[in-house]
Amino acid sequence: MGIPGSGLAKGLAVTLRTMTRKSHTAQYPDAQPELPPRTRGVIGLFEENCTVCMLCARECPDWCIYIDSHKETVPPAAPGGRERSRNVLDRFAIDFALCMYCGICIEVCPFDALFWSPEFEYAEEDIRDLTHERDKLREWMWTVPAPPALDPRAEEPKELAAARKTADKLAAAEAAEAAEAAEAAQAAEAAQAHAERGPGETDANGNANRNENGNGAAS
Ligand code: SF4
Ligand code: SF4
Repeated sequence: MGIPGSGLAKGLAVTLRTMTRKSHTAQYPDAQPELPPRTRGVIGLFEENCTVCMLCARECPDWCIYIDSHKETVPPAAPGGRERSRNVLDRFAIDFALCMYCGICIEVCPFDALFWSPEFEYAEEDIRDLTHERDKLREWMWTVPAPPALDPRAEEPKELAAARKTADKLAAAEAAEAAEAAEAAQAAEAAQAHAERGPGETDANGNANRNENGNGAAS
């Protein structure tokens, strides 16, 4: 049997120890929490990448992704080619009242159209408002943090190399166009100067104008 009152002393010691410790309580919402970049807050949709393949909707264990689409015929890219059909997205919605934040939809999307955003302040008074439609899902996209930097010794991603190649090609085409325009402007200027000089006059290089009949002194 212990000394009478020892339990009380132990309890008071614990209380005193805890009282002197620094508090770790975050004063939310005055102080925003520092969330890690991979926080599963809400899902953003990058619509341009979505091909309406339906994989995310099929794999979602809660069946809380709703997608509607229709088919459109695209004319052939080159004459004599075949017409193609493509899916056009009409509706993309996620019901966050049902979602269990498993991340399967993001993992299975083959076209990088879905991303986690750390935003979490989207509580609603009406449960129906937790179904976020396409426009709202797109808005979340702008809150998705940039991916972490690559390891300096990592190979350049294929997408980046392809984008750089396209940008280089565009820059080269633009430069060629600008050079052509400058050449045309120079030629027009020379023609105007030539027209302004009378027949028989010579320019700074000693070249003479010819008259309408082709007569005139040549340099
Ligand atoms: S996170 Fe999971 S439950 Fe939520 S929409 Fe994606 S697949 Fe469905
Ligand atoms: S898996 Fe990706 S590309 Fe396919 S429908 Fe879902 S979001 Fe769109």
